[in-house]
Amino acid sequence: MGLSCAYYLAKAGVKDIVLVEKDWLGSGSTSRAAGGVRTQFSDEANVELSCRSLETYRNFPEIFGQEIDFHEVGYLFLLSNDESLKDFENGVSLQNDLGVPSRMISVQEAKDLSPLIETDGLVAATYCPTDGHCTPDSVVLGLASMARKFGATLLTQTPVTGIEIEEGQIRAVATTRGRIQTSTVICTTGAWSQEVGRWANVDLPVTPLRRQVLVTEHVAGFDPATPFTIDFETSFYFHGSGGQIVMGMSDPDETPGFSIEMSDAWLPRLERAMLRRAPSLSTHGIASGWAGLYEVTPDNNALIGEAEGVDRFLYATGFSGHGFLMGPAVGEIIRDLYLGDTPFVDVSGFDARRFKTQQTRPELNVV
Ligand SMILES: Cc1cc2nc3c(=O)[nH]c(=O)nc-3n(C[C@H](O)[C@H](O)[C@H](O)COP(=O)(O)OP(=O)(O)OC[C@H]3O[C@@H](n4cnc5c(N)ncnc54)[C@H](O)[C@@H]3O)c2cc1C
Repeated sequence: MGLSCAYYLAKAGVKDIVLVEKDWLGSGSTSRAAGGVRTQFSDEANVELSCRSLETYRNFPEIFGQEIDFHEVGYLFLLSNDESLKDFENGVSLQNDLGVPSRMISVQEAKDLSPLIETDGLVAATYCPTDGHCTPDSVVLGLASMARKFGATLLTQTPVTGIEIEEGQIRAVATTRGRIQTSTVICTTGAWSQEVGRWANVDLPVTPLRRQVLVTEHVAGFDPATPFTIDFETSFYFHGSGGQIVMGMSDPDETPGFSIEMSDAWLPRLERAMLRRAPSLSTHGIASGWAGLYEVTPDNNALIGEAEGVDRFLYATGFSGHGFLMGPAVGEIIRDLYLGDTPFVDVSGFDARRFKTQQTRPELNVV
């Protein structure tokens, strides 16, 4: 998010942009994402943001001069009960109205598309052929190179430690390497945003929650055209990656915190879901895995906007597990909010103050 904002602002001619990163570029959640990019959401603004981002990802090599291994294999949501079926039917109808070629499909068609699945208990599925996955580290590289090219300064190994504010005006950002004088802060600190918001007296309700991913050894015969497949009831998902299979799942027992140590506690649940939905996957060895942080908000929707009470504190955070795919579009939105232009989609519903007025907008298609 930070790099995307820096790129779009710098490209629009904004001067003296400094991106301040406590570690290395992409070192937060982004380099730990599974790389899934999809347009199948239940919330209209999410569909529009994701459509815009996918358009950029499709053209990324031409725009940014960087290959990102975008595989347009589609996304398949497997549905097991009537409630999900109804929600996804509504979602597909909304997506189709917005030009997304998603559709409801039969259980048999789902099996034809994703042959590793067992279909016991499924009632239907949704499929969008233009969704897919790409490589987060390559996206970071492309955005960083172009942000620099347009004049942005990218500081790494530079933790921000506070924000100086006088009479509602931002004066400077304090870092471990000194003070940066500025009148504007754009908070894109993902899972760490609550503390950054507090420095400016802005409530950004973002909770860090560990999520883990495993990668199998090479799987002979795996069809690389297999869609990114999600068993919606359990949240178990898998997709191909250079002959290996990446898989993951949420853990309802996970408690909030910043730990990204891998833990075995989720494995029995993962195994049960895998044995039920894609049993052949359990016959392959595990080559590697990692943990990262989801940055969760109370309604699983992002916080995007400009604060009140302090001038020029903008934020784009709390993407609740789907921020990688939204990065390019959100950079454009923040550029427009900064410049006072009208964004291509109305993002007022993502204002962080919505929780005070109970006007939340829950996103249903989250895993
Ligand atoms: C296992 C896993 C799988 C995922 N899969 C997907 C997926 O398939 N598709 C998808 O769209 N999303 C996925 N996500 C979610 C996605 O990774 C995030 O939504 C997205 O990366 C958020 O981007 P961001 O720029 O907001 O946050 P981050 O990438 O976390 O960037 C925030 C940065 O702020 C820096 N920072 C924090 N505090 C400070 C400070 N005080 N000073 C300086 N710098 C600071 C951090 O070091 C970090 O680099 C997944 C996440 C996980 C953990």
